[in-house]
Amino acid sequence: MDNCIFCKIVNKEIPASVVYEDKELLVFKDINPIDKVHLLIISKKHIVNLMECNESHKELLSKMLLLAPKLAKDSGLKGFRTMINSGAEGGQEVFHIHFHVYGGSEKIAKI
Ligand code: AMP
Ligand code: ZN
Repeated sequence: MDNCIFCKIVNKEIPASVVYEDKELLVFKDINPIDKVHLLIISKKHIVNLMECNESHKELLSKMLLLAPKLAKDSGLKGFRTMINSGAEGGQEVFHIHFHVYGGSEKIAKI
């Protein structure tokens, strides 16, 4: 996808601090972290957000979700928050699906 910053990261056109990579997924540190640890799990394939997903994305999405606790443990976290913004009205700014995984501060805001 032209002009998608996360596709550019997947294609190594722009740098990122990558912490995990496989055939389908890429994980890198958020450039503007909101906690001590803040990672972004993305699919290598360009998908806009969850609103574009259907049954055919089941395996990919479960793989993304199940990767979160592994990454959190590897980062030394005992707990973490996962956030998935979908659409501008859902606070999404980068329109390439990503799961935020963050934690590490002593107190996390109640939601
Ligand atoms: P969202 O608001 O859910 O779309 O989140 C987009 C996230 O991507 C934000 O937390 C940004 O800090 C992060 N971000 C934007 N550009 C980059 C980049 N080049 N490398 C790493 N993270 C980025
Ligand atoms: Zn993209």
